[in-house]
Amino acid sequence: GIRDSDGVPHLSLDIGGTLIKMVYFSSNSSESTDNRVNSSLKDKMSTSSGNLHYGIRNGGLHFTKFETSKISDCIEFISSKQLQHNGDRYYAAPTNDKNIIKATGGGAFKFADMFREKLGVTLDKVDEMDCLVTGANFLLKAVHHEAFTYIDGQKEFVQIDHKDLYPYLLVNIGSGVSMIKVESDTKFERVSGTSVGGGTFLGLGKLLTNCKSFDELLEMSRQGNNRVIDMLVGEIYGGNDYAKIGLASTAIASSFGKPISENKELEDYKAEDVARSLLRMISNNIGQIAYLNALHFGLKRIIFGGFFIRGHAYTMDTISVAVNFWSKGEAKAMFLRHEGFLGALGAFLSYEE
Ligand code: ADP
Repeated sequence: GIRDSDGVPHLSLDIGGTLIKMVYFSSNSSESTDNRVNSSLKDKMSTSSGNLHYGIRNGGLHFTKFETSKISDCIEFISSKQLQHNGDRYYAAPTNDKNIIKATGGGAFKFADMFREKLGVTLDKVDEMDCLVTGANFLLKAVHHEAFTYIDGQKEFVQIDHKDLYPYLLVNIGSGVSMIKVESDTKFERVSGTSVGGGTFLGLGKLLTNCKSFDELLEMSRQGNNRVIDMLVGEIYGGNDYAKIGLASTAIASSFGKPISENKELEDYKAEDVARSLLRMISNNIGQIAYLNALHFGLKRIIFGGFFIRGHAYTMDTISVAVNFWSKGEAKAMFLRHEGFLGALGAFLSYEE
């Protein structure tokens, strides 16, 4: 059962504006687990001098998410699995602190009372940026086949040399976007951000296409054609490239610019095409702001995380192309397999301290 698993902290939470991310331990082997992360965690824990011994050998870590607006589903899940009882035997925390859950994200503040009332647990708040960086560094250093580039539809895993990891720019695309310059295990700074992020994509997408979910919007974008909505360079230049400043005729001159000159209503456009333009606009914009920050701080490597990406080919392709285009091939965009769980993983790792 879950409760006799040798003092393993059972779960951590990252309660964001849109999604709750949960990392939890379970000794139930029938649940799907992530062997790469687990073996890295085992290694890390066995060499760590922390006073907490992780019994990961008897089970595994799981990653799951809930919508923040349906927080009661999350609370029910925790309760049904009895996850709120953190491991007892080896847990050397101060007395009476057994029922604490490490939690990050704005919801760790917003929902603290609800967790106390419904589950009898105290949310131990961990700083959001600390968690993002801790999670990203752990994945980048310890987990095999975690980071990859995505160029021309080709996914290529990159194992980064530990000595060569820093500095890098961490771009977390959640509801909003944070950009963090990471210089070492402990030295980092949130240098920039933008409110035009995953929340904008989903919010505008819902208004424009009447989609019911992120997955539906993403699937529509996969089928759409942005050229129906975007104004291209070639359309302004009569089919020619604007070669002098290096713009191909197919480059987007103005996102969503085409309807200006067409006598059409929203219903006259296919939702798929609208979704595609929207995804393109937002991914491009984030890629460009990320590149500008990387340039400003002299960073060659830009690592993208956050649930907006979702391993989606077109999203990653657009971001990669933007970074490559603006940096003239100097900077490289990289992605992470556990993109959405950086904060939750960072919170989980903070039990060790
Ligand atoms: P936050 O911590 O702000 O909630 P996340 O990293 O969880 O940020 O990313 C949230 C964003 O991820 C959403 O705004 C949306 O663009 C995207 N997303 C991916 N999958 C989903 C999903 N199943 N439901 C809602 N949004 C999703």
